[in-house]
Amino acid sequence: MEQRNVQVISVPWDEKSSYMRGCADAPDKIWDAYNSESANRFAENGHNLGKEHLFQFAGTAELSSGDHVLEELEAVAAKQVGDGFFPLFLGGDHAITYPLVKGVASKYEGLNILHFDAHPDLYDQFYGDRYSHACPFVRIMEGGLAKRLVSVGIRTMTDHQKEQARRFNVEIIDMRNFDPAMILKFDGPLYLSLDLDVLDPAYAPGISHHEPGGLTTRELIGIIQQFQGDLVAADIVEYNPQRDIQGMTAMVAAKLMKEVAARFFV
Ligand code: MN
Ligand code: MN
Repeated sequence: MEQRNVQVISVPWDEKSSYMRGCADAPDKIWDAYNSESANRFAENGHNLGKEHLFQFAGTAELSSGDHVLEELEAVAAKQVGDGFFPLFLGGDHAITYPLVKGVASKYEGLNILHFDAHPDLYDQFYGDRYSHACPFVRIMEGGLAKRLVSVGIRTMTDHQKEQARRFNVEIIDMRNFDPAMILKFDGPLYLSLDLDVLDPAYAPGISHHEPGGLTTRELIGIIQQFQGDLVAADIVEYNPQRDIQGMTAMVAAKLMKEVAARFFV
């Protein structure tokens, strides 16, 4: 595999959160947790992310407000992949994923998306907003930006979203049928989108939407370590520091960031 340069980009934007704000403060807290002296920079597979400067913080996206941000984020993502980088975005709420995927798709045709979430995020619109954090995957699929979307950890399906999933051929792996031994396989470039509320709130209380019955941290790490595919970009979203307890969920996010980051290199 070629030498890859993974850039971490902070996306402090939570204007599209439907229930509670706070995710805009997440990226710095996650990066601080990664740099905490309580841990080291090795992923579990032995990859040292602190070595050779192939994994580093590249700065904060400069954002205005309102729907202009969608264009700004698309441009940030397109520039990253256009310059040959492999971006890992720290949100922010899940609304950032549509413009980021759009930017990444400007380089990569036939994109696959591996989506972890308690929620399908398939509402056509939410409280009148087509760009709500409850809608990103509809905008992605109707825009033809991904050939395949696999959503793992779902446990809040509604009639409307079930219909939307059928319409866009979304592969739903819901919690009722979750098998920790499953190995997901993707042909072609892969974008990984991780909404931290896929975890059971017992493991990650620092999120806006507590939805019991989710994955353990260990189960999620297992899926991240074992999927087969060529990871080209990723995001980690929906960490809400205002709901966190002693920075525990920030450390969970940082741990997951390390495990996702390691997958760019193997
Ligand atoms: Mn989500
Ligand atoms: Mn969610």
